[in-house]
Amino acid sequence: PASIFAAVEMAPRDPILGLNEAFNTDARTDKVNLGVGVYYDDNGKIPLLAAVKTAEKARLEAMPPRGYQPIEGPAAYNTAVQNLLFGKDSHLIANGQVVTVQALGGTGALKVGADYLKRLLPGATVYISDPSWENHRALFESAGFPVENYPYYEPSTRGVNFAGMKAKLEQLAPGSVVVLHACCHNPTGADLTEAQWSEVVDACRERALVPFLDMAYQGFADGIEPDAVAVRLFSASGLQFFVSSSFSKSFSLYGERVGALSIVTASKDESARVLSQVKRVIRTNYSNPPIHGGAVVAAVLNSAELRQMWEDELAGMRDRIRSMRTGLVENLKAAGVAQDFSFVIQQRGMFSYTGLSAAQVEQLKNDFGIYAVSTGRICLAALNSRNIGYVAKAIAEVVKA
Ligand code: PLP
Repeated sequence: PASIFAAVEMAPRDPILGLNEAFNTDARTDKVNLGVGVYYDDNGKIPLLAAVKTAEKARLEAMPPRGYQPIEGPAAYNTAVQNLLFGKDSHLIANGQVVTVQALGGTGALKVGADYLKRLLPGATVYISDPSWENHRALFESAGFPVENYPYYEPSTRGVNFAGMKAKLEQLAPGSVVVLHACCHNPTGADLTEAQWSEVVDACRERALVPFLDMAYQGFADGIEPDAVAVRLFSASGLQFFVSSSFSKSFSLYGERVGALSIVTASKDESARVLSQVKRVIRTNYSNPPIHGGAVVAAVLNSAELRQMWEDELAGMRDRIRSMRTGLVENLKAAGVAQDFSFVIQQRGMFSYTGLSAAQVEQLKNDFGIYAVSTGRICLAALNSRNIGYVAKAIAEVVKA
């Protein structure tokens, strides 16, 4: 009999993974991969944070048994996540209005949230920013939702088209789900101001929208507390909302898959019922979360000493990215580029939409072995003291051409 797979078509390649494959096979020794979505240190390595190393060592020495975790993950982890996102003095936490479950990274948190939302609001449409993290659309579509865009990035200012965004939010049907990047917008690096966030909160209230904040980079813009401004404004609003969060970047724990989904309800009683439903989603998907990554994060966040160590290391990552932003702008100037690139300093987080065209990105690859996403997105954390001059000179060549 014919194979059941005989007619299966090849799925389209993930554009960023394809970029990595091409980079890996490039033989040039001065090649640079700016297409990645991870933080590299000045040696071009993914750091293992000292706080993580210390917590891991203690954990391995204790040789704990490997029983099943609760479906929602352990309280020590979930409480630590809540304190980071909502603030440790949050009235929502005190009132029992926050449901938090451990998840498989930020992606897993989005998927559990999306699957639960599909049960709660089966007829809703999901709105994502234009542009957005490339997985948002596919993820919500795979949960069964139609996905549409709201205006976000304005190429002429390299900032946010806030008037366009707000006008769109104000005409959405009640019950629409709005996915919002809480800070460090991926891919553009363009964030809302606090005042703009307040207007977004108002629009969500007036139109009865369902906000879903995606917080993948807490601590990479201005710091742990200031980066939570959107979560805090929604917390003060009295609205119900969803938050997906991730420690992939902030703890440099990408492959351990450590994240969380938090849902703000109207009461402790609602929280109990919502948690019971979210647990059904998890139970029928992967049953319960893995132990190691979450245990390490909880150990760090729940120890005053390790937490301080982590905050200092996170500040180090944040400062290094910032210095690469200013360094790139200075090096471009020194390389004779007349065009104003100072917007790179204003953009926040790991990425910048540089405004380089697809043709210019192609030329960077062909002539210099410098790989970037065809949209012109570069990862600032892939720059370091050794390659920044080379990258700036190469960009200078392609923008002059
Ligand atoms: N959301 C956004 C906006 C991201 O940029 C990312 C990672 O690149 C994620 C979610 C997913 O994070 P994780 O790797 O923890 O699944």
